[in-house]
Amino acid sequence: MSTTTVKPTPTQEQTHELSFLESVYSMYDRAVATLNLPPGLAEKMKRCHSVVQVRFPVEMRGGIRVFTGWRAVHSEHRLPVKGGIRYAPVVDQDEVEALAALMSFKCALVDVPFGGSKGGLIIDPRQHTESELEAVTRRFTRELAMKGYISPSLNVPAPDMGTGAREMAWIADTYRKLYPHDINAIACVTGKPVTQSGIQGRVEATGRGVQYGLREFFRHADDVKLAGLSSGLGGKRIVIQGLGNVGYHAARFLEHEDDAKIVGIIERDGGLFDENGLSVERIHAYMYANQGIAGYPDATYVEDGLTLLEAECDVLIPAALEGQITAKNAPRIKTKLIAEAANGPVTYAADEHLRKRGVVIIPDMYLNAGGVTVSYFEWIKNLSHIRFGRMDKRLDERRGEAIIDILEELSGKQIPANLADRLKIGAEELDLVRSGLDDTMCKAYRELREIYWKRDNVRDLRTAAFVSAIQKIARTYMEMGT
Ligand code: GLU
Repeated sequence: MSTTTVKPTPTQEQTHELSFLESVYSMYDRAVATLNLPPGLAEKMKRCHSVVQVRFPVEMRGGIRVFTGWRAVHSEHRLPVKGGIRYAPVVDQDEVEALAALMSFKCALVDVPFGGSKGGLIIDPRQHTESELEAVTRRFTRELAMKGYISPSLNVPAPDMGTGAREMAWIADTYRKLYPHDINAIACVTGKPVTQSGIQGRVEATGRGVQYGLREFFRHADDVKLAGLSSGLGGKRIVIQGLGNVGYHAARFLEHEDDAKIVGIIERDGGLFDENGLSVERIHAYMYANQGIAGYPDATYVEDGLTLLEAECDVLIPAALEGQITAKNAPRIKTKLIAEAANGPVTYAADEHLRKRGVVIIPDMYLNAGGVTVSYFEWIKNLSHIRFGRMDKRLDERRGEAIIDILEELSGKQIPANLADRLKIGAEELDLVRSGLDDTMCKAYRELREIYWKRDNVRDLRTAAFVSAIQKIARTYMEMGT
């Protein structure tokens, strides 16, 4: 494990690429150029307001290891600020700042009333035992909490790459012990296990959001036509990169609930392809049992998985890392629709190239917003100290029964059992989470497509998403008096 790894900066000559942060800024600038914002406001909304870097020691393996991490706050037009904490062997301040900026725009776009933030820690979780990870997480939490970078009212982290519900439970517990008198302490972090005041449906929320977002896209014939695709998600050939928390759930839902065909899966040790469709569930199980996908028997295996990004397919879903589709491979990308489930998978240079070619990109800040949306529900649940559905479930069931009684009495006929069952449903927490998420994804897509179709100077969905988000944040700043 290395605690001092510095991310290599690609040279201009090799890739002609901007850094991730510059890439996000360029996309932002492109959108700002279509707007008429008061002078100075665009600059205020662009860069992170504050960043804290922490370096802390943890005793382990008979010695002391020093870890380095960051938490960036992009925009505090709404509080708390929100965004995940990433554990990765290679992460740096620029990356965290870029991700924090995307969080502000993402939250604004989907009307989640938070500002944007992100955290990162240089650590390779696979090189550590569970108790080492716990010690590091608890110490990192103390470092951030003492500086106001974790707090239910100011800054609320969540899972991101390399972290999950387990880490969030450690963060919550550490925070609660630091501030035992804070009755809302448990709301200091989201993505907790359901048994630790988490919420049903949070684990798969980002994948669910990808599914709901794609469904909504396919409801709009004009948009589907832009991508040169036939109507309906059913039967569409999908290549997905990354079978982590986001990619796995998205792929599984699309395969089982929308009859899409997952023809390609890209993982860190290669790619699998089958024109007739892969079984996401079986590959996922194989991957966990064998620490990778190499050797999976029922598909064509390619060692250089990234070549599958260029495969013939209807929808390409990058659901792994930023910077996967670059100026280099963009000219070889064959799909007409890219659905960005990861944050920043398409670089600015690639984006410019692809939009000129008419490739439709459903942007990250919209498509992967399911995670933070359900995080918002979890935070509300924590502040209200009650599970969603607890007060009204039984009442809804009784109302349904009453409606059945009335209908049967008036018609003199018995309502078929399957219909009666549907009427008698009282919503559980998971039903409410799904309903709220679905509604959020539909509404946000309609807003951004309206901007796309109505404004001549907005030529792609990403710019439309930025425009929607920037307008909302700008309005908030102007109304409160910057
Ligand atoms: N890390 C996720 C994201 O990038 C979730 C953030 C959150 O729930 O706060 O959107």
